[in-house]
Amino acid sequence: MARVIPLGGLGEIGLNAMVFEVGGERLLVDAGLMFPGPEAPGVEILVPDFSYLGEGPPLRALVLTHAHEDHIGAVPSLLRQQPVPVYGTRLTLGLLAERLEELGLEASLHELVPGERLRIGDAVELEAFRVTHSLPDSVGLVLHTPAGVLVHTGDFKLDDAPLDGRPTDLRRLAELGDRGVLCLLSDSTNAEVEGETPPERTVAATFERLLPSIPGRVLVAMFSSQLHRVQHLVDLCHRLGRRVVVTGRSMLRNVEVARRLGILRIPEGLLVEPEASDSLPAARVCILTPGAQGEPMSALAQMLQPETPGLRVRAGDTVLLSSRTIPGNERAVSGLINALVAAGARVVHAGIEPLIHVSGHAARAQQQRMLELVRPHAFVPIHGELRQLAAHLEVARMAGVAADQRLLLHDGDVLDLTSGHGRLSGTVRAGRVAQGRAGGGEVDPDALADRRRLGQGGVVAAALALGKDGRTFVGPPRLSGRGLTRDENQVLLDSAEEVLAQLEALSPALRADDALLRDEVIRVVRGIFRERTGRRPLVLPLLLKL
Ligand SMILES: [Zn+2]
Repeated sequence: MARVIPLGGLGEIGLNAMVFEVGGERLLVDAGLMFPGPEAPGVEILVPDFSYLGEGPPLRALVLTHAHEDHIGAVPSLLRQQPVPVYGTRLTLGLLAERLEELGLEASLHELVPGERLRIGDAVELEAFRVTHSLPDSVGLVLHTPAGVLVHTGDFKLDDAPLDGRPTDLRRLAELGDRGVLCLLSDSTNAEVEGETPPERTVAATFERLLPSIPGRVLVAMFSSQLHRVQHLVDLCHRLGRRVVVTGRSMLRNVEVARRLGILRIPEGLLVEPEASDSLPAARVCILTPGAQGEPMSALAQMLQPETPGLRVRAGDTVLLSSRTIPGNERAVSGLINALVAAGARVVHAGIEPLIHVSGHAARAQQQRMLELVRPHAFVPIHGELRQLAAHLEVARMAGVAADQRLLLHDGDVLDLTSGHGRLSGTVRAGRVAQGRAGGGEVDPDALADRRRLGQGGVVAAALALGKDGRTFVGPPRLSGRGLTRDENQVLLDSAEEVLAQLEALSPALRADDALLRDEVIRVVRGIFRERTGRRPLVLPLLLKL
């Protein structure tokens, strides 16, 4: 029997982490992060709760499909809990190694070569197959197990003529399909998008049409891992006689690693430092930068800050936003576009030029093609919120997967696969762990609740003086607030006597116990404040013994 247990990525976009249990051993595919929304103030990243891996069968390997953050961003957290050999392709390992070094973490890294088989532990033979995605060197995985063959697509798209000439290995997938696949786990990201995702060539064609007629500087903002696009822009700028500036920590790192590994080829002398580019004619400069999602700390956002030194967006610039707006970022992106226009730049985005960006994920017709090639007994949609997973099940219905083998799993569900059959058998612990910074310590749920309360209701300090006997109150408490309106501050001033009266009504036993008394101060102050203002501030009780 083979067991499939998602610890993340089934119910959200991000946190991808899939456990396979075969013959008393485990293997984890991907360990990804997720960026939180405003509901988690001060939290930089979320990672999957890996505590399930801390007990039970041994974990033999972490296998990575590609180097996007939602697939490798939680590797440091996992390695801190459990050192385990890591497998991935050259670029994936190269980018991961850079990150681990920054964090001072060591790991044993093993290169995966598409097409080669590798034994992991006693029960599994692992094989990687090439897929096209929005960054190079991405793979899907085949697990040959005693129970049957399992295929995990990773993130993929279908593109007959990708820029790097390495299309998704459909021939191998068809071969596997012919021999019989027990279960297919397939990327659901675009399950609500009809038809086919256009090839990356269409974006290249857009750049080739636009760039020659742009008179001033060109700034291209995009995801820093879009190295196919970087390669094309480098080649195009070389042809057009524009020098290229690469900015932003993540983009500089990705370009440097890909160049060192021979995945990115940049003509000698084409790159120019930001400062040196200022002395070149505007028509001879192209700047590649991350920050197309309106991220406030990105290199592009810095270029709009008058007080930070370095490159600046200026009148006459043309900014190409080569990305789609991730749901939830609409306001930030709109703010970015306004700021760019205010700085005098012309902005070209997907609303004006639809093919200035294409997705790295297969749309419905291509998902169906994957299903029809592999023809699995059982099917599990992965990588998506519930809506995308459900839409992908519908694609599987059209592709002919039997109703009881179209399996909707959520994080923590346990799927048992025996020959020709999949069945849900229970659940394990799964969830999200908040971290203050990438690779840093955990932000526990109580701290998060405090931060939310601070953000919504402000804070009230209540200092209460106690006499020598430790149980009589010397006078009304001193109440002071932060983050309150003028009216709310007045309510505080007016409440001190009433707080005292309510505390004096407490039993002597309650008043004699500091911890209980503090709880009572919180309860009383919050109750009065809520009754008069409708808000619930964070209350900090302070007991002063005279
Ligand atoms: Zn990806």
